Amino acid sequence: MTLQRAEALAKLRVDLKTRREAMQAALQGDLTALNAIYRNSSDPVDFASESANEEFVSYMADFESRELNLIDEALLRLNSGEYGNCDKCESPIPLERLEAIPHATLCIRCQVEFEKSGFRD
Ligand SMILES: [Zn+2]
Repeated sequence: MTLQRAEALAKLRVDLKTRREAMQAALQGDLTALNAIYRNSSDPVDFASESANEEFVSYMADFESRELNLIDEALLRLNSGEYGNCDKCESPIPLERLEAIPHATLCIRCQVEFEKSGFRD
């Protein structure tokens, strides 16, 4: 692993932990941290103002618990040293992909094949 990649993975670990804490707080009804994360993203959403909508709240709870699982898995993989490698072909997942989707477990090529095989999440 190059030094650049090791440094990028270390940053991703911090990012994942921040997201994990935000998701946990959000699941307990505190959307402040989650809002702060999404406010910095390119597609800001004001969750707090939408939270009056019951349908939206249950959608978000779903989304948050699924994200939380994926983040937990990613952190486990970081600890075991498997993080950043494709689950299928074992080649390193490009950093740009990991930065866009920190919990990605497949490289783009395998992801495309996986989706073509008919299974959709
Ligand atoms: Zn692959």
